[in-house]
Amino acid sequence: MIIGLTGGIASGKSTVARAFEALGAPWVDADDVAREVVEPGEPALAEIAERFGAEVLNSDGTLNRRALREIVFHNDNESESERRWLESVTHPRIRERLIAHLERLAASGAPYVLLVSPLLFESGQYQMVDRALVIDVPEALQIQRTAARDDVDEAQARAIITAQMPRTERLARADDVLDNGGSETEMRRQVAELDRQYRELALTPHRE
Ligand code: ADP
Repeated sequence: MIIGLTGGIASGKSTVARAFEALGAPWVDADDVAREVVEPGEPALAEIAERFGAEVLNSDGTLNRRALREIVFHNDNESESERRWLESVTHPRIRERLIAHLERLAASGAPYVLLVSPLLFESGQYQMVDRALVIDVPEALQIQRTAARDDVDEAQARAIITAQMPRTERLARADDVLDNGGSETEMRRQVAELDRQYRELALTPHRE
């Protein structure tokens, strides 16, 4: 059984994932895998360099993300088609590698595994999971935790949050919700309860 774990910036995805891991449920982070597929030596990086030229590579052969962002996030028709092309090159490879990671984790005897993905719903990765767990925090707290963790001010944190999927829409698509507006102890209590439910569900034949 695969649980998709998602939430907005600084909602607590990594913190919650570590709490699940402490109870025996391992996880893979979709962001890490997205970076892996464009590392030097990967076919996706070669295709990207072939299409956009050496300007999207750093001198050490790694992907120059800023240069690539400038090409695909220009907000005109051309950048939109380039963005689609980029997704057509990276998404199938990310998906393939995620499946391989998840299968490897499942084979290690875990009762269930987690796919941590900030873009679970937006990317279509929700199709890979059995249930979606949304980590929810009030926006004011989300802004506070973003500003405290990353080097951004409150206005920037607010802008990032505005660009993400609205909280209400994320909640509407959730199978399970973890309220991370309280202390870490309260978070861990909810993780323990979800872990109990997931272990039970994982044993049930003919689940959805
Ligand atoms: P995400 O992975 O969703 O971006 P993180 O797990 O990195 O979020 O959490 C964002 C910040 O909030 C981190 O600095 C983390 O330590 C803190 N944090 C997460 N959950 C709690 C909580 N329940 N109480 C206090 N701080 C928390």
